[in-house]
Amino acid sequence: MKPMTVVGNWKMHTNPAEARALLRDILRGLTHLREIHGSGPWPRVLVAPPFTSLAACQETLRDDEFAETVWAIHLAGQDVFWEAEGAYTGAISAPMLLASGCREAVVGHSERRRIFRETEEEAAKKAKAALEAGLEVFFCVGEEEKERERGETLAVLRRQLEPLWSLLPEGSQGRLAIAYEPVWAIGTGKAAQPQDAEEAALFIREEARKGGYPGDLPVLYGGSVTPENAGAYFQVPSIQGALVGGASLKAASFLGILEAARKGAEGSS
Ligand code: PEP
Repeated sequence: MKPMTVVGNWKMHTNPAEARALLRDILRGLTHLREIHGSGPWPRVLVAPPFTSLAACQETLRDDEFAETVWAIHLAGQDVFWEAEGAYTGAISAPMLLASGCREAVVGHSERRRIFRETEEEAAKKAKAALEAGLEVFFCVGEEEKERERGETLAVLRRQLEPLWSLLPEGSQGRLAIAYEPVWAIGTGKAAQPQDAEEAALFIREEARKGGYPGDLPVLYGGSVTPENAGAYFQVPSIQGALVGGASLKAASFLGILEAARKGAEGSS
């Protein structure tokens, strides 16, 4: 059975009250789905709220109402800085994420790379620091539209991944996943073809092997995933989940994607 992970990236949406309400709706929906379908195979579910809403989400997860379902959801940071503490205004460290209830962090999202000018080396340093501190890392890579048109997709993925392999600390195995997120597919409604996602995933795994990463490396797809198209990604052999932006902001659509992941895992058994 293929293990699946679905990450909801809430980006710069939801104040604490909105985050609490959204998480409650997701938890209630999950409880309901579990009543219908039993205990599995459910995907691992992560939500990455803005840092300022992590405390509200942590409180929500402690609510007795969700005692039966709470194990099913983890909180993740949307980003993480490479130093543990110091004079870095606006930055959030891995130990801070851990203390705020996160077990995972998204690193190198294309919005960080593009808008905040984060370099490949910086993304790799962030991943290293997060892994060293004990977080699991979802490391994002993906090409721009022009790069795809020029046939440079695989070269871009290699360039983005390269600094990572030499920086990975001992014991990272099983705590790193790659999210293949073509930039042109993020928030545009122009999702990649499942076959292209499969090709990218196979390439990423091969790069990991060449880079000396031991063992299996899960690859997720991200870019305009919806309840309607999610099943097609979960059916291709090398995709083990999804990173979801827009469709994670409504409980109904996020739950639809979780349901598709459950079916995808079931179908692969
Ligand atoms: C994302 O935020 O990484 C993402 C894939 O967004 P969307 O699902 O909205 O394309």
